[in-house]
Amino acid sequence: MRGQSIYWDTGLPEPEYDAAAPLPDRVDIAVVGAGFTGLSTALHLARAGRSVAVLEAGRIGAGASSRNGGMVGPSFHKLGSAGLLARYGETKTLALMREGLLALDHFEALIHEEGLDCDLQMRGRFRGARTDADRESMARECDWLGRNLGLETAIVAQADQRAEIGSDFYRGGAIYHRDGGVHPRKLVLELARIAAEAGALLVPACPVTAIRSAPGGVELNTPKGTLRATEVVLASNAYSGRPTRALAKRVVPIETFVVTTSPLPPGQMAQLTPRGRMFGESGRVFMWYRPTPDGTRFIFGGRLARAGAGPEACKTVFGRAVTRVFPQLEGTSFDHAWSGRIAYTPDHSPHLGKVDGVWLAGGYCGSGVTRSVYLGMKLARRILGKPGADTALDDLPFDTVPFQPFSRQGAALLSRWYAWADARDLRRARGPSA
Ligand SMILES: Cc1cc2nc3c(=O)[nH]c(=O)nc-3n(C[C@H](O)[C@H](O)[C@H](O)COP(=O)(O)OP(=O)(O)OC[C@H]3O[C@@H](n4cnc5c(N)ncnc54)[C@H](O)[C@@H]3O)c2cc1C
Repeated sequence: MRGQSIYWDTGLPEPEYDAAAPLPDRVDIAVVGAGFTGLSTALHLARAGRSVAVLEAGRIGAGASSRNGGMVGPSFHKLGSAGLLARYGETKTLALMREGLLALDHFEALIHEEGLDCDLQMRGRFRGARTDADRESMARECDWLGRNLGLETAIVAQADQRAEIGSDFYRGGAIYHRDGGVHPRKLVLELARIAAEAGALLVPACPVTAIRSAPGGVELNTPKGTLRATEVVLASNAYSGRPTRALAKRVVPIETFVVTTSPLPPGQMAQLTPRGRMFGESGRVFMWYRPTPDGTRFIFGGRLARAGAGPEACKTVFGRAVTRVFPQLEGTSFDHAWSGRIAYTPDHSPHLGKVDGVWLAGGYCGSGVTRSVYLGMKLARRILGKPGADTALDDLPFDTVPFQPFSRQGAALLSRWYAWADARDLRRARGPSA
C-alpha cells in the first residue's frame, strides 16, 4: 500500500515545471530524489552559484517527505544514551547527541529566517510509559539528557497524566519540551520554492534509470534524455534502487503506516491533547500520534500493520491500538490510510559523505525531518569545500547491509517478533487483560 496522504491538499502552489522542456545537456551537480534531503542540498548548492538539477521519479516530494508524521525534535539517536555510551564512550556519545540539537536549531532557524509557511508548532511531545519500569527508564534518560545536554524535560506521574493526554492507558510518561510538529507537505513545497528561486532546476516524473562515470564526471540516464554532471548526489533514501545502489545496499527500507481520523469535534480534540502536544509511547513497536496541523483530526502512525497490508487491514490494526489508548474513539472512522518507507542502517545512524564515488546523505532510521534538512545543508558545504561541513557522523563507517536483498523480509519478521515481545512484557507487567 502507498495510498494518498492527507497532506496533499495544502493550498500552496505546486512547483511549476514545463514537462515538454528538454533536460539541460550538463549541470555542475545532479541530485537524485526531491525529498527534504535533495531539496535542501540543491538549495545550498544553487545559492553558492552552482548549476543544479534535481531529478525526481514521481511528484516533487513523493517519497517519505510527504508521507511522514511531521514530528520534529532533537532526534538524538536510536540507540539512546546507554546504547551510545556502551558502543562509543562518553566523548563521542555527547558529540553524536549534540548533532541532534544542532539539526533542530538549523531547522527552526531556516524556517524562521526564510519565512517558510509549514505550520511549525513547537508544543512539546508526551511519551507515554506502558509500564512502571518504562517510566523509570525514561526518568533516567531524561535526567542524563538534562545533565549532559541541558535538554528540558519533565516526568509525569500517572495521577497527573490527564493534563497531558485524554487517556488513562499509560503509567505516566515524559514531556520533551523541545519537540513539536510541522506540516510535511507544506515544508516540501516551501523548500522546493526557495530551491527553485535560488536557481535549482526541479524535474518531476524523471526517474534516473542508470548512472555511470563519464569524462569530466557522470552521466545520468532518464526517459527525458541523458544529463551530464560533474558531481551526483543520491538523495533517494528508502526509495533507493539499482540506479542508486551505493545508498540502496546500505539501508533497510521498512514500510510504515499512517491513518487519520475523520474530523473530530473541537471539544474532543482538546480533551485528547489538552496542550496540543505530539505523542509517542514506550515499546519496541510503538504508535506515534498527533493532532493534524489544523487541529481538526488525529494522525496515528507506526509499524503496526504487516508489510504490504492494504488500507482496510491497516485501519483495523490501528483501530485496536487507538481504542486501547483512547477508548472514547471507539467507532470513530479513519478516512485516510497510507504508508511510506523509512531507511534503517546497520549502526542505527544517518550518514553523509562520498561513498563508492558518489555523494549521498540518508539512513535517518525514521527520524529524518530535521536531520535530512540539516544533513542536506552539510552535504552541500562538503561538496563546495566550504567550512562548517563537518559533523560528528563523519568518522562512522557507512557499512553495507548483510544480505540486503532479503533485509525487508528480515525487518518484517523482526517487527512481528518485537510486537509479540511487547505484548508479553505488557502482560507480565500489568496482568493478562493488558
Ligand atoms: C510514515 C512515515 C512517518 C515518518 N514520520 C516521521 C516523523 O514524524 N518525524 C521524523 O523526523 N521523521 C519521520 N519519518 C522519516 C522522514 O520522513 C524521512 O527520514 C525523510 O522524509 C527522508 O527524506 P529524504 O529526502 O531523504 O527521502 P524521501 O523523501 O523518501 O525522498 C527520496 C526521493 O527519491 C526519489 N527517487 C528514488 N529513486 C529515484 C530515482 N532513481 N530517480 C529519481 N528519483 C528517485 C523518490 O521518488 C523520493 O521522492 C517518517 C517516515 C515515514 C515513511
